[in-house]
Amino acid sequence: MPYTPNMSARILDGKASAEEIRRDVSRQVEAFKAANGPIQLCTILVGADHGARLYANSQTKHCERVGIYHTLIDLPVATTDAQLKSEITRLNADPTVTGIVLNLPLPKSIDAPAAQYQIDPYKDVEGVNPSNIGLLFYDVPIIAPCTALAVMELIRRSGADPRGADAVVIGQSRIVGRPISMFLTTQLATVTACHIETRDVKAHARKADILVVAIGRPRAINADYVKPGAVVLDVGINRVVEKSADGKEVSQTVGDVDFDSVSQVASALTPVPGGVGPVTVAMLLRNTVEAARKQLDRRI
Ligand code: NAD
Repeated sequence: MPYTPNMSARILDGKASAEEIRRDVSRQVEAFKAANGPIQLCTILVGADHGARLYANSQTKHCERVGIYHTLIDLPVATTDAQLKSEITRLNADPTVTGIVLNLPLPKSIDAPAAQYQIDPYKDVEGVNPSNIGLLFYDVPIIAPCTALAVMELIRRSGADPRGADAVVIGQSRIVGRPISMFLTTQLATVTACHIETRDVKAHARKADILVVAIGRPRAINADYVKPGAVVLDVGINRVVEKSADGKEVSQTVGDVDFDSVSQVASALTPVPGGVGPVTVAMLLRNTVEAARKQLDRRI
């Protein structure tokens, strides 16, 4: 359908997509269990803050729903690098553990990339081990980062074709923006990677057929940054406290994209909450089954 200006964007419903993916994962888990035995995901928390704990609880809930066993390993804030390494080594060696997640943020005293590097790449269901991220470069990761997979899944579901498209990714973190840029490059989009030092983000963004925003700045990207008809993926999750019409302070979660203005120019847009977030969790479940399967014969 050709794009008509001032049309409201189609909302890319992450909750509905996640539900569909979970149903498929459920069937895969059942088949895997019947042939090979249980799948177990272990989440490690170290001195967990509220966010890390909430994410862990959500992992438990979603794993249980699809038939994956979930174990929480709750380590104290005083855990040392060596103690964490020995815990990860133990889980790597345990054949009943098929997936390992290290929930962030970790205490400042812990070297997070070094800890992620310890996770067996075949059990690294978040795809954060540097060797998995490195293999993205060759388009053969054992397991790819969940948020990047979620963004690519939502682009696919939007109907946009990356091949030959101009794609702009604002935000270039190691496990979100950069893997997304790499996936889009692999799918033959022409990719512009913007970050904090980019001189004129708006000028780049306005050329995008596919615009992905992952910067962690509430509603920073408004309609002025968006080419009419673009497909816009908002990865940001920001907690803001604002005054409501009756003067009360209300806390809510918003994205990096100004939904109200962008929905007037984009052809499709993910909401926050209910967009990339739920699909990311569904991808974690899908990765968990995939990891268990790959461990059977340890092949890429
Ligand atoms: P990060 O802080 O590690 O990286 C931010 C990136 O954005 C950096 O590359 C930085 O250079 C760039 N940046 C910051 N401000 C900018 C600006 N004004 N203009 C251009 N570039 C700018 O953040 P992250 O871990 O990649 O997370 C980004 C956002 O995505 C956060 O809101 C986070 O909560 C959210 N997030 C969501 C999911 C999900 O599943 N939906 C997963 C991970 C992170």
